[in-house]
Amino acid sequence: MLARQLAFPITKLKGIGKVSAADFAALGVETGGDLITLYPRDYDDRTVMTSLADLPPEGGTINTIVSITDHGHYMAKGKRVLKIGAKDLRSGRTLYLHCFGRAFMENAYPVGTSWYINASVTRLGSAWSASAFTLGSSEEAVGIGRILPIYPLSGNLSQKTVRKAVEAILSNKYIHFDDEVPDDLVAKHGLMHTDEAIRQLHQPSDRASLDRARLTLAYTELLHLELRLERQREKRAKSTHPPKAGKLEQALQASLPFSLTEDQLRVLDEIREDLDAGSMDRLLQGDVGSGKTLVAWMAALHCIERGFQVAFMAPTELLARQHAEGAAALLEKLGVRVAFLTGDVKGKERGYLLDALHQGGIDLAIGTHALFSKDVAFKRLGLVIIDEQHRFGVEQREALRSKGKDVSLLMMSATPIPRTLAMTVFGSMDISTIYSKPMGRKSIITHIVDEKNRERMYASIGVEFSRGHQAYFVYPRIDDEGEGDLKDVTTMFSFLKEKYPGIPSALIHSRLPEDEKMRILDDFRDKKLMYLVSTSVVEVGIDIKDATCMVIEHAERFGLAALHQLRGRVGRSELQSWCFLVYYGTLTEEAKARLIVMRESNDGFRIAETDLRLRGPGDFIGNRQSGFLRLKVASLVDDVELMAQAKEDAEAIIQEDRGLLQSRHATLRRILSADGTQEPSD
Ligand code: ADP
Ligand code: MG
Repeated sequence: MLARQLAFPITKLKGIGKVSAADFAALGVETGGDLITLYPRDYDDRTVMTSLADLPPEGGTINTIVSITDHGHYMAKGKRVLKIGAKDLRSGRTLYLHCFGRAFMENAYPVGTSWYINASVTRLGSAWSASAFTLGSSEEAVGIGRILPIYPLSGNLSQKTVRKAVEAILSNKYIHFDDEVPDDLVAKHGLMHTDEAIRQLHQPSDRASLDRARLTLAYTELLHLELRLERQREKRAKSTHPPKAGKLEQALQASLPFSLTEDQLRVLDEIREDLDAGSMDRLLQGDVGSGKTLVAWMAALHCIERGFQVAFMAPTELLARQHAEGAAALLEKLGVRVAFLTGDVKGKERGYLLDALHQGGIDLAIGTHALFSKDVAFKRLGLVIIDEQHRFGVEQREALRSKGKDVSLLMMSATPIPRTLAMTVFGSMDISTIYSKPMGRKSIITHIVDEKNRERMYASIGVEFSRGHQAYFVYPRIDDEGEGDLKDVTTMFSFLKEKYPGIPSALIHSRLPEDEKMRILDDFRDKKLMYLVSTSVVEVGIDIKDATCMVIEHAERFGLAALHQLRGRVGRSELQSWCFLVYYGTLTEEAKARLIVMRESNDGFRIAETDLRLRGPGDFIGNRQSGFLRLKVASLVDDVELMAQAKEDAEAIIQEDRGLLQSRHATLRRILSADGTQEPSD
């Protein structure tokens, strides 16, 4: 059977009662299958004998033989603690074993006796000490000679409990795990059979076998992942010619001073095809400034032309309004009825709007999360578009979506996610990617500036002002919503006023009232203001073409994704733009690496990959979601080559046997159909 299909509850195993079952449940382990796929997070390698002489000055783990030399006692926190003196027979040095609450050890380990020991040792003053140790009469008893698995734990679970439970399954001679990789590929890559790999991963006989087991299971996961991807691609490739742009879409295109980029056209084909086929679930990712908004309007027109309503949701009032204004300018002349709905729209106006939405008198509603309030009802909602999707939770998306039947979803993300990661996180969603920006965009020139040497930066920005170009000066929100950061921007603001006398500017931060913020941005757009000093409120989406300078203070405190987003506020036209990353003090290695990536690259996808490497997936998708990553053994960061191999193999399999009907693919077919990606065609 497949490992994951061991369906008996773990309470059937000896030694697992209600209490530990609850702890296991917290780890997501309820069945034998869950337990056997709860893989060790690390190993305690006791295959090598190490004595005190082998340890570095700060200590470490030893596996050796000691002879007990004396028993002593001392008081700690009002309790008598036994301290056993033990001589390491292999180095001749002395080790002190502190037996907290374990007075019985005095009799169990008399002076003069010798024992095998595994201990994690630290230096206390000039003496070696250990309080976590195992003494035993044989190597076997203390695990010497073995590589012990270390499992993730929760509650009161101990390694011992988990190891025993796993052992109970593995020692059952009726249990055998089916191969999850076809034989020919096992042979080709020198893999283990699945049964052996699972056993070795839990109970490795030596390092080499452990490595091979890990490789086998990582490859297995990636092969399944790539097969799922391959089938999805297949599904798309099979369908008929993509529907053409309708009248409204053509009219919008004709009204633009530029033509759509090839990437925009391609993703629109993908989107239209989905929309016409029924319900769409699509993530549109593209770097900052790649023109996602226009794609969204085109998709909206496609639905509107078919008599549906469209809801467009943005994370902030500012951004929602920018979009509403953009939509009004572009779409109203085509006869599209656009409405703007946020929490600030109240009273009569709100009542009128809600009525119109309900009666079908509005085609496109643009707003914030106010769009999914209870009192908002649509006549015939067909498409929900979500800008800057990472700012919304799943529940919010679904709330909006549930306002209609078979509502399609288009989520837009300006934080590019490496493809592998996106696939795993967004599971069943289709992904459209805009790789290239509109023609004629210049790369943003990025400088890393020590805050002590900021004068040259101010000089070059001054030159930009004289050309009629604008700038942002951003201070991080250091202590979320605290007063400290406000003081920082305020100080910076008066400092800049002196630096650039007579140049109109404004201070904008998250605690200003919404309409005040909007007024400031309007003035900035109209060039009544030449620069803005802000906390990171300008982070998302704001699109102002003549802004060419971005100064980020305390750049060392921002993550790569945020830096890239902020920098994306400039470089939004054919003008040359600059970004200055101002840092304070000495940079840590990681911060330095981040700033250098920013300087070397303008490519959001490359930056995202580096971020993934530096900090893991949590920062992309929220730590909460990253827990659901389906990969248990393979690493999105370290197994890139293995992933490429798995992809190649998956392509070959699908090419040859797209229905996975051949007998050697029977297990693969079972695995893929179990998670619902199997097509019903066979
Ligand atoms: P983002 O993908 O970051 O949301 P936007 O949709 O705000 O980017 O687009 C950035 C700018 O590029 C906008 O001012 C938009 O009008 C412009 N733009 C979009 N598509 C094109 C195109 N095909 N050619 C030239 N400019 C374009
Ligand atoms: Mg945008």
